[in-house]
Formats: sequence, structure tokens, C-alpha cells
Amino acid sequence: MQGIVIDEPVLFELGSPGRQGYSLNRLEDAATSPEHLLPADEIRGEVEGLPELTELDIVRHFTRLSQWNFSIDANFYPLGSCTMKYNPKLNEDMARLDGFAGHHPLAPDACSQGSLQLMFELQEYLKEISGMDHVTLQPAAGAQGEMTGILLVHTCLTARGNPRKKVLMPDSAHGTNPASSALCGYHVVHIPSNDQGLIDPAQVERLMDEDTAAIMLTNPNTLGMFEQDILKITEIVHGKGGLVYCDGANLNALMGVTRIGDMDIDVLHFNLHKTFSTPHGGGGPGAGPVGVKKIFEPFLPVPVVEKTDQEYRLNYDRPQTIGKVKNFLGNFGMLVRAYTYIRSLGPEGIRRISEMAVLNANYVKASLKDLYHLPYPGDSLHEVVFNDRNQLAHDIKTTDIAKTLIDFGFHPPTIYFPLIVKGALMIEPTESESKDTLDGFIQAMRDIAGLAQSEPGEFASRPHFSKVSRPDEAGAARRPRLRWMPS
Ligand SMILES: *Cc1c(COP(=O)(O)O)cnc(C)c1O
Repeated sequence: MQGIVIDEPVLFELGSPGRQGYSLNRLEDAATSPEHLLPADEIRGEVEGLPELTELDIVRHFTRLSQWNFSIDANFYPLGSCTMKYNPKLNEDMARLDGFAGHHPLAPDACSQGSLQLMFELQEYLKEISGMDHVTLQPAAGAQGEMTGILLVHTCLTARGNPRKKVLMPDSAHGTNPASSALCGYHVVHIPSNDQGLIDPAQVERLMDEDTAAIMLTNPNTLGMFEQDILKITEIVHGKGGLVYCDGANLNALMGVTRIGDMDIDVLHFNLHKTFSTPHGGGGPGAGPVGVKKIFEPFLPVPVVEKTDQEYRLNYDRPQTIGKVKNFLGNFGMLVRAYTYIRSLGPEGIRRISEMAVLNANYVKASLKDLYHLPYPGDSLHEVVFNDRNQLAHDIKTTDIAKTLIDFGFHPPTIYFPLIVKGALMIEPTESESKDTLDGFIQAMRDIAGLAQSEPGEFASRPHFSKVSRPDEAGAARRPRLRWMPS
């Protein structure tokens, strides 16, 4: 280890007996002493095994650990599909307002008018942006939004007489799509993507039958490409009595330009932590609201946030509801952040997000396509998927490219996803980044392509400048070593 960066022990290995983080005045009033207030067997004389540290020991420990974090506030983070955009500090300020941060989730409606108004209006904004008829804010993540959406499909079809057995989805789908469908009891049927990386309506025609509940697609898809035959696909599925689910994780490519709801989609989830800038990736909990068409209204999770005359209220009295999918009202703090983001941008700003996200991704694509292979060279929107085909000639694989990027100071892009691309390198710059940052990243990628030719032997040991070089990732997940004392 170089310089003054030190390897950080766990807290239990730090400190020494007798150190104190804080001290309290001796209690003067015996009536408020623990001995007086608590039964004797509830009071511990000693706490075994806790480390003894000063305030400064603790502050330095956690500050050092925080400096090892890779974060959007410190670095460029081009993880495809994850939309690691900047999290504006204004959002954080608003979420910390006492009236929001200190509001008890079980406070009666009459005392919660401001929070309920915020939720109601956020629902309205998401409806306007997506073209859906109703929105529930309850799910805590994209994956939970998917599960909620497929449960709604199941409940709606059951009410019509038959929940059916299968869900169709393209082989490029995000892993959560088959997982959510399977959790709701459906058998997953994959639709092979065509040679342009898109869904071929003829394949949907071939696979769609009266046993199929829904198609679950992503638009733009996980290659960042618009499903051009979306209207033909929805027509085929609806024609056989099925429903259409759209994974809306890629909404930042379309916002303000076109609306998923206008494409005959029945259910859609939003990722507030992607499209609407709330922190994620270790930064905080997510939020995965679901937008639906009218037919699903009776089944929405309870409580539904409603507006009656001049009052906002929570309606629990909904006999056909699928029930609750999350405790309280979902991750409310994230709703405040997303609301702030939408209000601070306005309709023009929302459209500009998509335009800039698409421009930035296409700038990266145009600047690298002479060196990196594009398995699907068609038009892409907010992200671009390369692979390692050109570098494989020198025995350099996607992992090697990703690990080497760390030495150049960049977080690697998403790798080996989507699964239909062998050795995928999936880059999503987002609209937050300046041309300078993108140029730096492009230069690093170009330098790495050059090194792959001139010094291919150098790659196996990279990264050279990180705390850990190549951990055994599978082993770390299977047999985590979480050092903990006391012995
Ligand atoms: C991120 C993502 C999801 C899952 O969202 P989570 O909030 O991580 O559960 C689903 N589909 C796509 C295409 C995604 O990019």
C-alpha cells in the first residue's frame, strides 16, 4: 500500500480499554436513573465485547471507509442499464425537510395532507409522462414493481375467468423479468431476438396462444434499441386475450418524446432510482412505481392515495385489491426526491434529459466503433452495447478490458449483459456527463484497445492501482469472510 492510505481494520480490532466516545453528566435526579425506571433484570452492568473508542477513532474509521467508495459524486459510472446519473443535492434538501423526514407513516390523513398531496401529484406526473391511467407508488424496486405488475395481470385475468399459464419475454430480458413472472406462478417462454436485436412479430405470432397471460418486454430494449414493431406485437397479444407488460427501466431514453402508454402497453414499471435520479447502488433504497391502464384500477395495492374535493386521503376500502406489497406507503423519502427532480426540471427539462442521454450514448458509440465491435449495429438510444470480438484476437476478454479501465480511473461498464451478446460491454453514460468526461472515458477505452495490441501480456494482472486486484468474485459471494471479534 502506498502513501498514507492504510488498510482499515474492523472496529473490533481498533481502540483500547478505557477509551470513550462521549461522556454524560452524572444523573442528579435519582428518579430518572435506570435503576429507578427499569426492573433489575433488564439492566446490564457490563456490555461484553464491544470495542472502546474515542469519537475521533470512530469518525476517522468511517470517513476512511467512505473514501473507498466509488460514487457518482466522485467519478464517472457508465454502468449500462443501471442509469447511474447524478443525484441532485436539491432532492436531498427537500427529503430532509422536517415535515417530510419527521412525518410518522401512521399519522392520520388529516395530519398528513402535505405528504399525501406530494404522493398524489407525483402519481399525476408519472401518469402524464407515461400515458398510463393510474399509478401506485408502493413497490420498493424495479423488480418489486414487476412482481406487482404481473400480480395485477394474474388477478385481472383471474377475474375474467382464467389466469393462464405462460408469460412471453425476449431472450434479451433483464433477469428480474423471468424471476418476477415465475414468482407469480407463470411459466416463462423466451422469444429469440432477431438478427437486429429486436422482437420479430412473427415469433410472437408463433408463440402467442390462449394459455399465455402476457408478454413482458422492455422498450427501448436492453440493447438500447427501440422495438419498432411494438404496435404489431401488442395487437397480436391483445388479439389472443393477453396483456402487455413493459419494463420501464429505460424510460430515460423516451421521456417527453413519446409515451409508453400510447403504445398499447397495459402495465409499466418506473425505476425512480434510475430515470428520476434518486440514489442507488448502495446509496439508498429504491422505488419502483407501477403505471396501469383503467382495467387494473380495482386491483391496485392498498392504500390508494386519492383526492376528494380539497382533501387527500388513503383509501383502504377496495375489496378487489391485490393487497399491500410494501409496508407503510413505500420508500417515501425517494418519492420526495423524484417529485423534486420532476418539479425542478419541468416538461422541457424532462424532454431534454432524454435528448441528452441519447446524444451522449451515441457520441460514445461513434467515438469507439472503429476499435470495438458492435454486435448489433442498428440505431441505439440511451446506451450502447459493444463486445470484445476485436480484442479476442490478442486474447483480451471483456473482463480484462473492464479491469483495466479501473487503472484508468473509470468504473467499468456493465459486462456480460444482455446475455444474447457474447462478451458484452454495455455503456450508458447518462445525460449528466459533460463532453470532457466522455472524452476522457473514450480516450481510456481507445488506449486500452491500443494496449491490447501492443502489450496483451500486461492485462492478466490488472488492475494494478486498486486496493484489491482480482478478487475471487464467486468465492467472495459463496464464502464471505466477515471478520468479527471478539474471541
Ligand atoms: C434495473 C433494471 C431492472 C430491475 O430494477 P431494480 O430496481 O434493480 O429491481 C429491471 N429491468 C431492467 C431493464 C433494468 O435495467
